[in-house]
Amino acid sequence: MTGGSRTQVVVVGGGPAGAVAALVLARRGAEVLLLDRARFPRPKPCGQFVGPAGARLLGSLGLWEAVRGAGARPLAGMRIEAPDGSVLLGRFPGGPAAAGLDSPPAFAVNRESLDAALLDRARLAGVRILEGLRVLDVQAGASHVVVQGLAGRRVLTLRAEWVIGADGRHSAVARAVGLRRRLLRLRRFGILADFADFPGAARLAEVFVGRHAYCIVNPLPDGRACVGLVTDWRVEACRAGLSDLLAGQLAAFPSVARRAAGARPVGRLYGVGPLAFRRELPGVGRALLVGDAAGFYDPLTGEGVTAALQTGALAGGLLADGLAAGAQPAEVQAAYAASRRRLLGPRWRFLALLQAVVRRPGLACSIARYVERHPGALAALMAAVADAVPAGPPARGDGYVPRLGPPATGPGWRLAGHA
Ligand SMILES: Cc1cc2nc3c(=O)[nH]c(=O)nc-3n(C[C@H](O)[C@H](O)[C@H](O)COP(=O)(O)OP(=O)(O)OC[C@H]3O[C@@H](n4cnc5c(N)ncnc54)[C@H](O)[C@@H]3O)c2cc1C
Repeated sequence: MTGGSRTQVVVVGGGPAGAVAALVLARRGAEVLLLDRARFPRPKPCGQFVGPAGARLLGSLGLWEAVRGAGARPLAGMRIEAPDGSVLLGRFPGGPAAAGLDSPPAFAVNRESLDAALLDRARLAGVRILEGLRVLDVQAGASHVVVQGLAGRRVLTLRAEWVIGADGRHSAVARAVGLRRRLLRLRRFGILADFADFPGAARLAEVFVGRHAYCIVNPLPDGRACVGLVTDWRVEACRAGLSDLLAGQLAAFPSVARRAAGARPVGRLYGVGPLAFRRELPGVGRALLVGDAAGFYDPLTGEGVTAALQTGALAGGLLADGLAAGAQPAEVQAAYAASRRRLLGPRWRFLALLQAVVRRPGLACSIARYVERHPGALAALMAAVADAVPAGPPARGDGYVPRLGPPATGPGWRLAGHA
């Protein structure tokens, strides 16, 4: 066991939440060490859609070029098909261009490439990254945290002032600091498959609302598409073969099933569920949780990556402020909990409303027919889906687009046992 290695902040998890939290902290001059059990690029089950608020945040952090380099495919809007076949075609409003940013309104991207690109940018900002290290335990004291992990067969112990848990829905950090997971009433199960030569993939995110499930189709580069099916959670869903389950559920979406039949499945199938859960708090003591580690609701409008980016940037910015000001942990926790609630609360309420509609096919069809006839209602729906904010330059230090400082100067610390 190695001991005594110190840094200011250890970030556990190198997905979008961890990469952005670490990058924001490092740009503000903090010493940051990021640990991930995987080696990047690593596969990540996801619908691969990043919505307008996420695209805007990436643009405001100057990360769009890196994301474009990862093969992102710009998307202008959404096509929503109701159970009776009514179709809504909506454009995302405003978009980053209206705010003077170069990123597109939304995009689809292979998560394997996106996550590796964001991690590279964090590295460039001065974050030290250790891949292939699984965090097993975190002990949080009054003045510091001790993070214990396994790299191959070696146990590593690190001391830091703070730990950020960005380690996804089964967060080891949350478990270690005693923040339990509470499943929500919405019990959904998701199946994800990528297809090559998928016909008709447009520059739109496609959503098909069915009677007991919904299906999303997102176009990827090179004629590929990601098909995601989200259905009611059932215990047998865990036991059934995923490909049988996918084929059975796709039968309820004949237009998607026809396109999938003419395409070639690539990679493996993923099943995830139950999807919706919350933690009692987004942090405690010297530990903050960001992204899925703190909670997840439903991928209907492609929420997860955006919330991961937003909460990562928020926690990184607030913690940088706290470190600079010598704030007490309780002050940082209170600021993070309140800002996170302001940021995500209205969004989660809108998503709960949307779920209530899509789970009642009759209501969904009536609303779709109404919206079809009223362009103003369609624009309002798209604005809500896009989480629209008034056009204009991104605010600085407003809680979720954090103030950016000079890059870290390289504090010269080193993890014992590593070159
Ligand atoms: C069916 C389905 C479809 C979805 N579709 C979309 C979509 O289209 N658009 C969208 O925005 N979101 C979607 N999501 C949600 C999205 O994938 C997640 O919300 C997002 O990946 C969260 O990012 P994160 O950074 O919090 O966590 P992750 O991306 O899960 O990253 C966590 C990281 O932590 C690492 N880690 C975990 N445990 C440890 C440990 N003990 N030690 C060290 N490292 C560890 C992992 O290796 C991983 O790299 C979907 C989710 C599901 C289930």
